Amino acid sequence: MRQRRSKVVKRSQSRPTLTESGSFPVVGRHEPQPGVDYPQDEADLDEMFPAEVDVHRYLERIRYPRGFACAACGDRATPWRSGTGLLACSACRHPAPLRAGTLFQKSPIPMRQWLRGLWMLTASETSVAATDFAQRLGVDEAEARRLLGHVRAAMSRADAPPLEGHVYVATSRLAREEGRPNASSPLIAMAVDVEMAHRPRVRLRQLERVTSREIQRFVVDAVAPCSKVVTAPWRGFSLLTDSGYEHEVRDRPPSKTTGAQGDLGPGDVWALLRRWVWWSDADFERDLQPALDEFTFRFNRRHYRPGQLFYRLMRVVTEVDEDGTTSAPPHCAAS
Ligand SMILES: [Zn+2]
Repeated sequence: MRQRRSKVVKRSQSRPTLTESGSFPVVGRHEPQPGVDYPQDEADLDEMFPAEVDVHRYLERIRYPRGFACAACGDRATPWRSGTGLLACSACRHPAPLRAGTLFQKSPIPMRQWLRGLWMLTASETSVAATDFAQRLGVDEAEARRLLGHVRAAMSRADAPPLEGHVYVATSRLAREEGRPNASSPLIAMAVDVEMAHRPRVRLRQLERVTSREIQRFVVDAVAPCSKVVTAPWRGFSLLTDSGYEHEVRDRPPSKTTGAQGDLGPGDVWALLRRWVWWSDADFERDLQPALDEFTFRFNRRHYRPGQLFYRLMRVVTEVDEDGTTSAPPHCAAS
């Protein structure tokens, strides 16, 4: 049994904070508006969505941010709308179910319940337990666990594009409970871009073993070609140059990023990650990767307010691309 009581005491003393107040980046051509694109608190959520039909209009706004466009004929006229979330092109009658292809497809859970569940995930400062999510959605715990898995998988897709520039890569063992890790603690690989003009972002992966091959696979997935990979002096990183990276060895990790003055460095990321795992209500005993994916999603948007994070999550689970925050792969500088 997990030591929930001691965790509650520890959490009351200090809580990890991944969300900070700050400006919301421009998302493509559409600047999300509070009270329209996202609620600012739970009362706002209830006010924005008093009925299912209100959620349908919201889903339509998210899925068609520049207005409805028929996938069959391209017609952009106002579609016919049913009361069950089905759109149909007014020109050719082609159907466009709003839930199709999203997390909510074929789900019997009312959309208002879904939004309340997703709000719970984004407003919480730690990872939500399946029991609490189950209660919120009105499903049993096994179903809640399955749905949380889908949500966290969607979060991981949002952070799939590789980092670029100067990226620090390291591995460490992560204790599941508060304290020092031991030889059986999970191995985690981390990549954090340390010399970019924006706030540093991370990629994290649980490794089976720390071998050159596993490190290489992680870096190839997490870091764009031609980037400079900065590591500690360890022979396990020796294959990085074979994959086309410039490899710089430093005795000490960079304490802060140079691009975003005063922002977090790799040591801060490890510290936040440890607290995230230790203090989360979620049960990650069997597999830590979902915790890493949720941490990554939230860490990389730590300056979002809860409503902004909710809006981003809604776009992720409806598989709308994030405009403006992913960039094209860099060109290798001529050597
Ligand atoms: Zn049409």
